[in-house]
Amino acid sequence: MSVIDLRSDTVTHPTPEMREAMAQAEVGDDVYGEDPTVNRLEALAAQKMGMQGGLFVASGTMGNLIAVLAHCERGDEVIMGNLGHTFLFEGGGISALGGIFANTQINQPNGTLLLEDIRSAIRADDIHHPISRLVILENTHNRCGGVVLSEKYTRDVADLAHERGMKVHLDGARIFNAAAALNVPASRLTAPVDSVTFCLSKGLCAPVGSVLCGSKEFIQKARRLRKMLGGGMRQAGILAAAGIIAIQKMTDRLVEDHARAKWLAEGLARLPGIVFEMGMPQTNMVFPSLAPDFPLTATDMANRLQKWGVRLGVVAPRRFRLVTHYWIDDVAVARTIEAFKANLI
Ligand SMILES: *Cc1c(COP(=O)(O)O)cnc(C)c1O
Repeated sequence: MSVIDLRSDTVTHPTPEMREAMAQAEVGDDVYGEDPTVNRLEALAAQKMGMQGGLFVASGTMGNLIAVLAHCERGDEVIMGNLGHTFLFEGGGISALGGIFANTQINQPNGTLLLEDIRSAIRADDIHHPISRLVILENTHNRCGGVVLSEKYTRDVADLAHERGMKVHLDGARIFNAAAALNVPASRLTAPVDSVTFCLSKGLCAPVGSVLCGSKEFIQKARRLRKMLGGGMRQAGILAAAGIIAIQKMTDRLVEDHARAKWLAEGLARLPGIVFEMGMPQTNMVFPSLAPDFPLTATDMANRLQKWGVRLGVVAPRRFRLVTHYWIDDVAVARTIEAFKANLI
């Protein structure tokens, strides 16, 4: 029995086409700027994001860290969501390595920060205060349920930040999921911001890496910071080759993952004992909860489901996270619903 792994879209393996392209990739020393495949990936990523330049980095975490270090000085402050990935899941790197202060504001259930919250968080010019330098948004918003931020909201935040002399960085780990859900090019969602990171290794199936995009000067600075952090890679074209296929071939199909997420959620919602407190999925993430009177915890249930070959995430005592991706087909969705049904006795 094959395992159905719904814990995350990070569990995706490279496709056969990616493995072939990796084997054939033309490479050079990328620290010298001489890897033609990395250069192609960076140019392609920049074009898709509507930005002047791109930088191939080891991970989304590294891309976000470099972006913050490039935009801010020590002692500066970044306004970000209290449920944002940069705040919760990046090891506090901006503070540990950059001496940068996080000013968290409450993420609304739709993934946004209220404009009035951002406005009142921005510090006055006063020697008592850190300098407010950057706002971070996340699209799609992972912890809020894979929800999508609109082009208009992104523009409203950027207008506010820019008026106050601040920059905006977008954690667009899943920006192509947002673009697919809204049926717009990703560049529409990134046009208002100053920099963006997106992941090649989640729903897009590449084995490793993210790309940080921004202006020419920003990317020059980011390249120096990447080297400082130990992220200057040599014949990285082997990895970039998969990234190129990720961008060219894997973005248009994300709508299939979204359709399966919807089908999965609808199937689970029909089962007694399952409730959807966070709403139905907008993209590839499904967050069902066990009803308050159900006798098992989510962890107990996850252990039972694992015996049925279904792996999923537990994000709260009664809540799961199931993420659809390239390797989850219709049969896997049907089997997951069956496994839940059988164990919800
Ligand atoms: C996965 C993720 C990241 C970080 O990516 P890694 O490659 O795992 O470091 C950043 N932001 C969001 C929203 C993510 O989901």
